[in-house]
Amino acid sequence: MLEQMHDLSGKVAIVTGGSRGIGRAICLALAEAGADILLNYSRSDKEADKVKKEVEKFGRKCVTVRANVGNFQQAQGLGKAVMSHFGKVDILVNNAGINRDRTLKRMTFEQWNEVIQTNLSSVFNCTKAVIDPLSERGGVIISISSIIGEMGNLGQCNYASTKAGIIGFTKTMARELAKSNIRVNAIAPGFVETDMLGTVPEDIRDQIKKEIALGRFGTPEEIAMSVVYLCSTAAGWITGVTLRINGGHYI
Ligand code: NAP
Repeated sequence: MLEQMHDLSGKVAIVTGGSRGIGRAICLALAEAGADILLNYSRSDKEADKVKKEVEKFGRKCVTVRANVGNFQQAQGLGKAVMSHFGKVDILVNNAGINRDRTLKRMTFEQWNEVIQTNLSSVFNCTKAVIDPLSERGGVIISISSIIGEMGNLGQCNYASTKAGIIGFTKTMARELAKSNIRVNAIAPGFVETDMLGTVPEDIRDQIKKEIALGRFGTPEEIAMSVVYLCSTAAGWITGVTLRINGGHYI
């Protein structure tokens, strides 16, 4: 029965920022669970193509769509693409994100705005893009927040604001969309080994590791497993939550 509950065969999932890091792991985990994937990314053509081939090894269909999800019009294109390639959508994973770290004094408006558009406006844009087809059949929306949205962090007022914003958006959508049988949840990872973590200087990484109860960074796969769970019928009564996965960094 457990296996059956986690089976996503026949489902269609959009994963934003699916070409690298956590998004790549989410694409592969959803595909392994049986879902077909619309993989969005903004620049990394080669990486997206590689993930497409990895998804296809699970016998699943994968369509890659290059689009800046921070741009409203481009994000609407994802909704159109999913309908033309798959004829439906069951799952939206808002994962795409960037950081442009500076203290407030040094941060330009452009650095503030780029992160707000990419990390937070994208969640609005992509949810709008799929809301009509999703409402017809019911489904699942998962957005990737961050431990930083709850803790704050030096040099990340832009990033922290977006990740806290995702939690407010998630709770509101959970209330608005429950009647359409759409469950809406967020995941707030701690520090995970990806290119993004690579932008943090090594001495600070060592310091952060000491603050994590389990003494190590997370893996993208450890986040992806929870995405599969939240998409599955095993999580059928879970909506409006933010699942913290951080090795005991923030308890
Ligand atoms: P990553 O390795 O840097 O990958 C980011 C992904 O987002 C890439 O696929 C990238 O595609 C895509 N992307 C960036 N800007 C985009 C845009 N405007 N439109 C569409 N796609 C875009 O990052 P990650 O560490 O896997 O992070 C994934 C998510 O988890 C982010 O929301 C991040 O904030 C969150 N998170 C990460 C950590 C961590 O420690 N790594 C912790 C907490 C939360 P291109 O290469 O094509 O631009």
